[in-house]
Amino acid sequence: MSQTYSILSKDLKQKFKDIVGNDSFFDQKEIRWTYAFGGTVFEKDWIPDLILLPKNRDQITKVLQLANQKKIPITPRGSGTSLSGGAMTPYGGIVLDVSRLNKILDIDIENNIVKVEPGVICDDLNEELKKYGYFFPPDPGSSSVATIGGMVANNAGGIQAFKYGVTKQYVMYLEIALANGKILNLGTDVLKSVAAYNIKDLFIGSEGTLGVITKIGLRIRPLPTQRKLGLFIFDEVKDLENAVRNIRKEGIIPNLLEFMDRVILKAVREYLGGEFYDFPDGYVLLAEMDGNIQDHVEDEFTQIYDNIIQQNPKFYRIAKNDKERERLIQARKANLPALSRIKPTTCVEDCTISLTHFADVIKKIEQIPEEIGATNLEVAIICHMEGNLHPTFLFNENNPKDVEDFEKALDYLYRKIIIPIGGSITGEHGIGKIKTPYLELSHGEQITEKMHQIKQLFDPNMILNPGVGKGDTRKLDEADKSRQLKNQKEKVLELACMRCGFCIASCPSRKHYNIEAYSPRGRLSILNGLVYGDLKPNQLITDILHTCTLCGLCLEKCPSGVGTYKIFEQAREIIHKNE
Ligand SMILES: Cc1cc2nc3c(=O)[nH]c(=O)nc-3n(C[C@H](O)[C@H](O)[C@H](O)COP(=O)(O)OP(=O)(O)OC[C@H]3O[C@@H](n4cnc5c(N)ncnc54)[C@H](O)[C@@H]3O)c2cc1C
Repeated sequence: MSQTYSILSKDLKQKFKDIVGNDSFFDQKEIRWTYAFGGTVFEKDWIPDLILLPKNRDQITKVLQLANQKKIPITPRGSGTSLSGGAMTPYGGIVLDVSRLNKILDIDIENNIVKVEPGVICDDLNEELKKYGYFFPPDPGSSSVATIGGMVANNAGGIQAFKYGVTKQYVMYLEIALANGKILNLGTDVLKSVAAYNIKDLFIGSEGTLGVITKIGLRIRPLPTQRKLGLFIFDEVKDLENAVRNIRKEGIIPNLLEFMDRVILKAVREYLGGEFYDFPDGYVLLAEMDGNIQDHVEDEFTQIYDNIIQQNPKFYRIAKNDKERERLIQARKANLPALSRIKPTTCVEDCTISLTHFADVIKKIEQIPEEIGATNLEVAIICHMEGNLHPTFLFNENNPKDVEDFEKALDYLYRKIIIPIGGSITGEHGIGKIKTPYLELSHGEQITEKMHQIKQLFDPNMILNPGVGKGDTRKLDEADKSRQLKNQKEKVLELACMRCGFCIASCPSRKHYNIEAYSPRGRLSILNGLVYGDLKPNQLITDILHTCTLCGLCLEKCPSGVGTYKIFEQAREIIHKNE
């Protein structure tokens, strides 16, 4: 199956400009360039042809109508934190950045529902809900920057999924702008209804391939007031698995049950120091019980504790108060910062297995570097204990041998370990542009074909987020051949920047301009282009670099500790010297 797209002519661009207005239309290479970067190491220079930042639903539907009529690819985008290249554009076309639709429209406490625009940031919503004693439970590691639209499109989870589930459990209704610009309202705001096929759920986790989410109704829950947390360290991963199995058998449901392997514990010890230095080597289980009645929480935590202690952990620490809890939970929150200091590249993978395979799978993943003869590749393993593993590969993406080994490791992980035991190739990060090769192997030809038929039903011209394997059976190397797909891998500045985007939400100039190019991550992408000759210095770049206020908030938020504002200051000095 193939699909050809039209070229965005000058006239056509003008028509898009007429729809969104001057201030929401960007066709300069420097701005488009920044949208070719995201939280994966895979992106080639898939530079979109046009960036549009609509301000309302009406503009979105008009853009879609025109794009569909003229067969121009449209890739919806929130904050660009996808770890699977979800908002990357192998076929070029338009990036529809919805981050300016960021209003919380309604908070209805009596009915436990909130209504939001897709660009609302997860933490911002929870800050607002806290005032009412409520929360929206899914909390991805990227909650400080991920948009609700992006979370719905990816069915995002987080560290409390064991008890609270994932985004899908909270979506009551969706307003969708279809590829042809028509609006579809799916779901209801009543709790029970079997009056229609459940089409709403088809859109949750559809990764922007079936429609653009323009409004979301979410169920919310009362905030728990009591918590009790323990950290346990085991010598043997099998003992840890047994403890979790027993907790499950007894029907106890901790809100947090998280696993970290030896590599992570070592990295965290070195990164956090202090009391963590005394922690022995081993596999970590973090377990927490929450609720609203103190006695219940204490009782249930005791049941968890008893089950774990029966499996002889070599060390444990129970938080006696909130301060101690905050300290212990740091061991989990510091995973990425700690790992990103080991090697220049930290690549977080995502897959799910059932608990009965847990210890066996951990051992197999630990052995990957040896199995494939990769001397410079390290693997660390994080797991949400509902079975969602994040094997994290550490290497140097500027070394071609490392990159080759990393790709072999991924192939080994999915083909040899996860798929044969019936696991899923992604639990929460999505297929994006990177997991298509494993789709058919994972689901079989029939299901892959059915997904394609569904895609064609909603998007016959294949304009929506082309390249995402769900529904798009084309191989990515069939993407517009006239586009020169240069390999970006060796072209990243020698920084530990993971391009996670955590810096963008707090940046004052990003907040003001509300566009990727004016964020720390965007400016770094521009410097990258300058250093390697893909971009040439000009007034726009000088202006973008000068919008950095040098406030340093980006450094505070950066998991890898990259002092981007200092880099921009130096870049400005160099530019002035050369003037
Ligand atoms: C350090 C780090 C930690 C992370 N931790 C987690 C985690 O714990 N759990 C988890 O689930 N994920 C995690 N992620 C992945 C990512 O943050 C989530 O998938 C998040 O929900 C993406 O939100 P976003 O706004 O950045 O979306 P984007 O990256 O911009 O887009 C993601 C996908 O959604 C589509 N999309 C975006 N907005 C819309 C819309 N309005 N309509 C239709 N489609 C749309 C895009 O086309 C794309 O396919 C993590 C990422 C990083 C970098």
